[in-house]
Amino acid sequence: MAALQRRRLLAAGLALPFSRIALGRATCGALTLPETEGPFFRTNSPRRISLIEKSSRGERLVVTGAVLSPQCTPLAGVLLDFWHADEAGDYDNRGFRYRGHQFSDAQGRFRLETIVPAEYPGRTRHIHVKVQPPGRRILTTQLYFPGEPANSRDGLYRPELTMRMAARGEGRFDFVVEA
Ligand code: FE
Repeated sequence: MAALQRRRLLAAGLALPFSRIALGRATCGALTLPETEGPFFRTNSPRRISLIEKSSRGERLVVTGAVLSPQCTPLAGVLLDFWHADEAGDYDNRGFRYRGHQFSDAQGRFRLETIVPAEYPGRTRHIHVKVQPPGRRILTTQLYFPGEPANSRDGLYRPELTMRMAARGEGRFDFVVEA
């Protein structure tokens, strides 16, 4: 299928989710798309909500959202393990800078405090995450930023995985996983 045709189909498929966002409803229903883990995941990340360190220079970013079942039930105690590139587009492969895990609260909510990751060659701006309800399968995916010029040039980019930005530095994304 031609790339342009594919893009048109994707755009058509997006009409419903966007209208639901506009109405302020939860974006549950379809399972969140999985994506490749990439080469930089590390196990045993520290448990923390904020990945900001004294040396952090990047623009601050807060990502909030919920983990929901396909029936829109909030899921508590879901492991969310985030990792992303630093201010220079590099991953910390020796330590745990910009790596951390947390668990969704009783209402299924999470809150990540970090910086806007820099781009690195071949990829648009993104945040990696693994999402795992207790005793269930791990969803490995990536979150994207709206309006990034490199989105359309990145073969991994998926509009469905784009955060909604309530304001500059305030991203929102709801994960839908099998429960
Ligand atoms: Fe990456």
